[in-house]
Amino acid sequence: MPHFLLSAEASFSAAHTLPGIAKCDRMHGHDWRVRLTVRVERAAVGPTDLAVDFRLIERAAADAVADLDHRYLNDLPVFAGRGATAERVAELISERAASQLATVAPQVTLVEVVVWETPQYQVVYRPA
Ligand SMILES: [Zn+2]
Repeated sequence: MPHFLLSAEASFSAAHTLPGIAKCDRMHGHDWRVRLTVRVERAAVGPTDLAVDFRLIERAAADAVADLDHRYLNDLPVFAGRGATAERVAELISERAASQLATVAPQVTLVEVVVWETPQYQVVYRPA
């Protein structure tokens, strides 16, 4: 089916420790970058000719990372019992953003969350 994919980004700075992983088992920080991509069916584009306001995606991304900024991720309750890895960060952001978007932009489906730990290292999570 023809569809549009729209993306917006957010960023935050945070530290983590990855036990058992060489070098990463020492506490260190990253300037994390996040990209949300949503899908909107062509047939859902109405008289505004917009699939969705970019600002709604941007806000969902910013809200999803707000409480992670300038924190030590391993200490946060949302990472209790799991590693504060880029994979788990992507899952968390996906859950939060999908929930918010379902309310403010029900025509969209969150299809991809990309999390960059560094400019060279990224994780792609596809919830759907
Ligand atoms: Zn790291």
